[in-house]
Order: sequence, then C-alpha cells, then structure tokens
Amino acid sequence: MERTLSIVKPDGIKKGLIGEVIRRFEAGGLNVIALKMIKMTKEQAEGFYQVHKNKPFFNSLTSFMSSGPVVVMVIEGEEAIKRNRELMGATDPREAGKGTIRKDFASDVEKNIVHGSDSPETARWEIDYFFPEEELFEYENPPCLPDGHRGG
Ligand code: UDP
Ligand code: MG
Repeated sequence: MERTLSIVKPDGIKKGLIGEVIRRFEAGGLNVIALKMIKMTKEQAEGFYQVHKNKPFFNSLTSFMSSGPVVVMVIEGEEAIKRNRELMGATDPREAGKGTIRKDFASDVEKNIVHGSDSPETARWEIDYFFPEEELFEYENPPCLPDGHRGG
C-alpha cells in the first residue's frame, strides 16, 4: 500500500472536474483517504513548489496555483504514486497519452488540471504539507468489478 498527494488545480475546479478526477481514481482502485478544498496563498504555493523555485515557470505557476480554490486529496492503493501519474498523463497535455486526465481536459503545460507526487519521499512531504495524520482515514474496499465499480 502506498499513499500519494493529488491536487485538482484551479483550472480543474473551474472546469467542473472534481467529481471526474475522483471517479477516475476510484475506478482505478485508489481510495481517497483525505480530502479538502482550500485556497492557497502565494507563499503557500511557493512553499509547496519550492523544488521548482529556480525554474522560469515558478512565478507563473505559483500565481496560478493561488488564483482560486483547489481540492487537495490523499489517495491510497497499490503503487498509488505510479498509478496516479499514469491516470494524470504527461505534464504537457500534448504529450499525454490517450484517455489520461491531462490529455482529455488540460489546456496547456501549466494549466494541466491535476498535481501528483513523483516519489515516496515527495509524497510523504507533500501529504504532510496539507494534512495532519488525524485527517487521514484508511478503509478497505472490495475488489473492483470489470467496469471499475466496486461491488458490495
Ligand atoms: N509547469 C509549467 N511549465 C513547464 C513545466 C511545468 O508551468 O514547463 C507546471 C505544471 O503545472 C506542472 C508543474 O509546473 O504540473 C510542476 O512541474 P513538474 O515538472 O513537477 O510536472 P508534474 O509533476 O506536475 O507532471
Ligand atoms: Mg512534479
């Protein structure tokens, strides 16, 4: 079992994709074990993306990420980090594979609907950035049916 941080970015919220993103996670066998809507300050977005502070897109990215509400989530499942990144698709939607969230909905390389952690270390740090341990709720679910829905 692995945990990762997902964010539905401000463009995803405006496009009405909160439910669609969660649906894809759940159909993909990932449990949402924590979730909240927040609006980041510029400083909070800068802290979150500090690994990118020397990149040319840092100022624009952190302005965008603090421009409106986002939904932050912790998702859990087997190989959750890899699985989430597969569901998201490549950073640039023009390079994202068919059927991925970014291919289907993103408008450009910055406004690409979702964030997902990229390694176990990053995931731990990113989860901790938004959620205290008591806001994480684990639960079991029956195996997925072929259409992605869960029985029971
Ligand atoms: N980004 C951007 N321009 C770029 C590369 C990235 O605006 O040339 C933004 C984009 O929103 C991306 C985020 O910065 O999701 C973080 O970049 P990263 O390379 O970590 O991509 P990700 O892990 O989100 O796929
Ligand atoms: Mg990244």
